[in-house]
Amino acid sequence: MLVFRKPIEGVERPQMPADVVIVGGGPAGMACALRLAQLIDAHNAAHPDARLSKENIYVLEKAREIGQHCLSGALLDPRSMRELLPGFEKEAPLDAEVTKEAVYFFTEKSKFKLPITPPFLRDHGNYVISLNRFVKWLGSKVEETGITIFTGFAGSELLYEGDRVSGVRTDDKGIDKEGQPKSNFEPGYDLQAKVVILAEGPRGSLTKQLVSKFDLAKNANPQTYGVGIKELWEVPAGRIAAGEVIYTMGWPLTTKEYGGAWIYGSPGTGPKDNIVSLGFVTGLDYADPRLDPQRVLQQFKRHPFVAKLLEGGKMIRYGAKSMPYGGWWAIPPVAGDGWMILGDSAGFLNSARLKGIHLAIKSGMLAAETAFDALIKNDPSAATLSAFQKKVESSWIKEELWKVRNLHQGFEHGMYAGMFHTGLQMITGGRGLRNRYPAKAGYEHMRKLADLPADGGAEAHLLGPAKGDGKLTFDKLTDLYHSGTKHEEDQPSHLVIHDTDVCNTRCVKEFGSPCQNFCPANVYEMVDDASQPNGKRISLNPSNCVHCKTCDIADPYQIITWVPPEGGGGPNYDGM
Ligand SMILES: Cc1cc2nc3c(=O)[nH]c(=O)nc-3n(C[C@H](O)[C@H](O)[C@H](O)COP(=O)(O)OP(=O)(O)OC[C@H]3O[C@@H](n4cnc5c(N)ncnc54)[C@H](O)[C@@H]3O)c2cc1C
Ligand code: SF4
Repeated sequence: MLVFRKPIEGVERPQMPADVVIVGGGPAGMACALRLAQLIDAHNAAHPDARLSKENIYVLEKAREIGQHCLSGALLDPRSMRELLPGFEKEAPLDAEVTKEAVYFFTEKSKFKLPITPPFLRDHGNYVISLNRFVKWLGSKVEETGITIFTGFAGSELLYEGDRVSGVRTDDKGIDKEGQPKSNFEPGYDLQAKVVILAEGPRGSLTKQLVSKFDLAKNANPQTYGVGIKELWEVPAGRIAAGEVIYTMGWPLTTKEYGGAWIYGSPGTGPKDNIVSLGFVTGLDYADPRLDPQRVLQQFKRHPFVAKLLEGGKMIRYGAKSMPYGGWWAIPPVAGDGWMILGDSAGFLNSARLKGIHLAIKSGMLAAETAFDALIKNDPSAATLSAFQKKVESSWIKEELWKVRNLHQGFEHGMYAGMFHTGLQMITGGRGLRNRYPAKAGYEHMRKLADLPADGGAEAHLLGPAKGDGKLTFDKLTDLYHSGTKHEEDQPSHLVIHDTDVCNTRCVKEFGSPCQNFCPANVYEMVDDASQPNGKRISLNPSNCVHCKTCDIADPYQIITWVPPEGGGGPNYDGM
């Protein structure tokens, strides 16, 4: 029987007072911690008699090492980093400055280069980075300030006093597969905090609890997401220059699905430019439940242009992560009594530019300024923290996101309608046909098998698992091996399925168990079981999970909740 992870009840938990707890040590959380330290240092220098302490400010990060769970393209727009650390270019790990970009439209065998790069895809002045290395460096800056980063600790629950968020409970460690404490059991800590800042990245698990408890999304569009499947390749020198950027639209997707690919060149560690970061983002609002985003990337690599680029090369890393696509209208309130939400957890991502790092960093800085005011006033109430909402609305975060506020919604009815709306939105400052385009949650677009062609029709090449030739294309398990994913095996499943009967009786028949397809890590399997009405039963391999959150987002019945596994487990996105 499947046993799902939940906090152990009836144990005494160590209590720890805190001024500020930041959950998530990605770009948003690290920028927030660093800015807060800068403000406190400046205050202490100016007011030696009224010093504030940094001792009780903590960052919780579920990865064993800083940056290990960070995966991105990645191109860095340096705007917010220049505000946070002027001159950061001199010491940050930047792989190359962008010198050349191109946008292609792919058909199956051919390609057309767009004569002009659309303004939002112009990247001159941006930097190719590995987000993993960049966040590691940012984390070292935070540690230099004296703020403590607890790695290998996940925030597993929010603590409340009435309607005020009063802290965070960290994950229980040492629980076996049956949910029983082992000899090394350590209960999670209760960090009783004045201010809790959620910077968990896309579909944050504590953020989800908070949004649901206070129905925060009731006036927002439903958040929509894409999943990016990424591979890092070492290729023979001379194939792509460091700092060269290529975006593609079209094949292998048809006109019905939303998404596209990136290819970025990096120098690598040798003397020659030989590292290629490439990946495909598939909108998680496709109709056919048999579609497999990992297969989409494999098909993309078979395009003659990409196959030639990679020929004779070697895939060295693999990973997957979701990203929030919904834009300005999908952002819930970002501050309340005792809490703030940052970065991808809030939805601060510009999907037209495939960029969120600079927005995550800026949101972290604004939240830090707000938290600092709350500490000075000793008032973390909604009245003080709501200043964060106002700061976001009067900052360049809103200015940038406002211009693309309707972008993704314009594609709800396919590529041609999307291009028409995008064109109109570009000449009307993001408005298009109306100020706010509505949206449906992505999973609502998924259709039942009975309504789809049995042979897959025009999408047939995107459906079902990729087999892989072992050189250019790979099956999921081969790819997964390159993600460095490891978990403590003897623990309950952190993929919590609220009603497995739905999987075994309804989903298998109605949708053909799409979890087997959309999960990029082979976590979900339907295994033979004669005792079940359809002869199949859901089985899980949670140790494979790369923490992309796709299952929590795309499941058509919305019965899967991703909760953090025992801290320290997960992928190792070294160099990603
Ligand atoms: C495939 C892909 C390509 C992208 N390309 C680009 C690009 O080229 N340029 C760009 O600017 N943006 C890009 N983005 C977007 C960008 O990566 C994100 O906007 C950015 O990383 C968001 O930062 P964040 O700090 O909000 O979240 P994240 O980077 O997701 O960091 C969140 C951190 O919180 C930790 N965490 C989560 N939950 C918990 C918990 N409960 N307890 C403890 N720790 C927790 C995670 O382990 C992680 O370290 C891309 C995204 C993807 C998926
Ligand atoms: S189980 Fe869910 S979160 Fe984990 S890899 Fe699969 S889809 Fe992603």
